[in-house]
Amino acid sequence: MNKKQFDITQLVRKNIAGLKPYSSARDEFTDFDQDMIFLDANENPYENGVNRYPDPQQRNLKSILSDQKKVSDQNILLGNGSDEVLDLIYRAFCEPEVDNIITLPPTYGMYTVLANINNVEEKKVLLNEDFQPNVEEIFNTVNGNSKLLFICSPNNPSGNLIDRGRILQILERFEGIVVIDEAYIDFTDKKSWVEDLNTYPNLIVTQTLSKAYGLAGIRLGVCFASVEIIDILNKIKPPYNVNELTQQRALERVRDKDQIKTEVNTIIEGRKELEKALSQVSFVEKVFRSDANFILIRVDDANKRYDQLIKERIVVRNRSTQPLCESTLRFTVGTKEENEKLVEILKQL
Ligand SMILES: *Cc1c(COP(=O)(O)O)cnc(C)c1O
Repeated sequence: MNKKQFDITQLVRKNIAGLKPYSSARDEFTDFDQDMIFLDANENPYENGVNRYPDPQQRNLKSILSDQKKVSDQNILLGNGSDEVLDLIYRAFCEPEVDNIITLPPTYGMYTVLANINNVEEKKVLLNEDFQPNVEEIFNTVNGNSKLLFICSPNNPSGNLIDRGRILQILERFEGIVVIDEAYIDFTDKKSWVEDLNTYPNLIVTQTLSKAYGLAGIRLGVCFASVEIIDILNKIKPPYNVNELTQQRALERVRDKDQIKTEVNTIIEGRKELEKALSQVSFVEKVFRSDANFILIRVDDANKRYDQLIKERIVVRNRSTQPLCESTLRFTVGTKEENEKLVEILKQL
């Protein structure tokens, strides 16, 4: 595939294009290997493990992610959860009250929240009945101020992967930036869009350590994009946006690839068993196909079933207010014991 023609300088907000990144003490002197006396950052000098500011560029963590994901560390930016990464993308490219973004509901709610916070118009183009993008409809809606288009694949809350051919058409035709949110990519055997970064300079891929990696509590999101886009986002990120404890804990965990793999495989097995069991429950009308660690089902009466489950001390997500999700509940795959308990209770209701 030939590389798409694309000029990022046409898309970035004018005030951002002219910025120099804030230079912190830890940016200006980085040669940690030497036995230096650090008197530059007004820290407390007495060691307790976290008395020093963290590395603002998270070099150790990026280096290992770079090896594992097979992309240069120059193509990676880390954030305080992928929610921070998404917010940085809005702030870099969307002029409030002027630009707009395209979302494909039903999808992840943060795209809307961030559009509202940043005072950027959201244009919604519903997925079709199979939860796939309606490409013609998208390009009827796009205009010259459409800066970002969000594709969540596998999609939350429906669980399915978005068709590769449709994403390719969107990448080819869209003149703004396509953000592919791969929060659940580790639960599929399909390849990540990270491999296509070199062909599509208008592509940003986001991932997270919150789901498959089991680190929702430490808040670490990962952004993959061209060097040009990463440089722009680096200008506006808070200098110490990923704290020292998060960096240490993430490093430990990403090195433990085998453990993560084992857990992910067990979750996928659990999903398959849960899918089978759910389809045998009398009031379950449809079990949607999932490539993630959750399952969306359509039931006879979602509010009633939700309340019944709460009484049984099981909390699920009622997604019924989302378009195309009338009377649906979303279940995260739990441990084997949790899944069995869930099925046992559902059969009794
Ligand atoms: C859970 C989730 C995220 C994760 O966000 P973090 O801020 O990294 O925890 C991102 N996108 C989608 C679609 C999600 O479901």
